[in-house]
Amino acid sequence: MEKIKMTTPIVEMDGDEMTRILWQMIKDELVLPFVDLKAEYYDLGLLHRNETKDQVTIDAANANKKYGVAVKCATITPNKQRMEEYPQLTEMWKSPNGTIRSILDGTVFRAPILVDCVKPVIKTWEKPITIARHAYGDIYRGVEIQTDEPGEVALTFKGESGNKQSVLVQKVDGAAVWQGVYNTESSIRSFAHACFKYCIATKQDLWFSTKDTISKVYDGYFKELFDEVHNEYKAEFARLGLEYFYTLIDDAVARVIRSKGGYVWACKNYDGDVMSDMVSTAFGSLAMMTSVLVSPDGKFEYEAAHGTVTRHYYKYLEGQDTSTNPIATIFAWSGGLRKRGELDGITGLVKYGDALEQASLDAINAGVMTGDLVGLVEPGFQAKSVSSKAFIAEVRGRLAELLG
Ligand code: NAP
Ligand code: MG
Repeated sequence: MEKIKMTTPIVEMDGDEMTRILWQMIKDELVLPFVDLKAEYYDLGLLHRNETKDQVTIDAANANKKYGVAVKCATITPNKQRMEEYPQLTEMWKSPNGTIRSILDGTVFRAPILVDCVKPVIKTWEKPITIARHAYGDIYRGVEIQTDEPGEVALTFKGESGNKQSVLVQKVDGAAVWQGVYNTESSIRSFAHACFKYCIATKQDLWFSTKDTISKVYDGYFKELFDEVHNEYKAEFARLGLEYFYTLIDDAVARVIRSKGGYVWACKNYDGDVMSDMVSTAFGSLAMMTSVLVSPDGKFEYEAAHGTVTRHYYKYLEGQDTSTNPIATIFAWSGGLRKRGELDGITGLVKYGDALEQASLDAINAGVMTGDLVGLVEPGFQAKSVSSKAFIAEVRGRLAELLG
């Protein structure tokens, strides 16, 4: 079989721990034998980020801006414990995803991958629920301080015109913690546009939730801008029979659980972070959730929604064959290469993306799957737990067949 040719490189962002191991397996077994891969490679592994003082993350995000499509492996966001684990770290580097999101702006859409043999924990869910997570600002760009004496904090805005606004945050009589967060009109607007556009493209209703009863100004601004942007899409939504629905975040959580699914739930940055883990777990597994960052100017970054699966990595280092689920990482590759194919008009690459997903789902529906899924299948379904390596080999065989 002749390998599929590419014209524009895809930006490849390598990562950490177990997902880095899966990344290489997927490339070797499922990508390189079929595609004449053109990639611009950036190593976002923690130690390389440290060596480059995190410049590599910025370079990778800029390459994503330049070429349009990236695939990213999960990466470690260092915390105190990681600083002890990796004593060579010179700084507690920021979350690479946070850095990429703030350079690209945009919205993260997370959708579960459904398979027939695994039914959602929530019995009423019939269709996927896609979380649209605003990927800019709030606590992810926040600043924080800890203080240990009585005192006060004020929030001050100094306009370039000389205008000043100030408000007392609080006066305290002892130790305290403080946080300053922000968002911008343009980012919130592009979040809203991305959501309405995505819903039109996928013919799904849009739900949006905030806590504007408590955060009247901050969250109230989100609601107001969504209402404004909605006006621009009202006619198209009506034509397609779609609905835009705003409600409070706590009400939304309750309604989501009782719903049938089949809509996009737009969430502020933190809500989206938390709710996507809840939704993916209830649909089956965190390992079955895709994630794509869509920037307002149409740049795409595909990745798995889960992390680097540390516990499995330590087993792997002990020489064990782990049964880590590679599905979401495979779908990052299929999604990225398919999008590259669409943008460059390469039908072979689009078909390859579809076939890779089909082969992965076929393997699971035939009962071959990783350990995390075996416990979730419907009673009576014959499922065999295999290692990541064996699962990928199974997918490769099916992919080769599908591609003839
Ligand atoms: P995680 O890597 O997603 O793993 C949490 C647990 O979920 C695992 O221990 C495992 O459960 C299960 N799991 C997740 N993905 C799986 C898969 N593909 N196959 C099988 N089981 C899977 O989250 P974490 O342990 O909180 O974070 C680990 C590191 O990842 C952290 O350093 C964090 O900074 C980073 N992280 C990165 C990203 C990103 O780059 N996008 C996102 C989140 C977290 P069992 O152990 O019970 O099998
Ligand atoms: Mg998260």
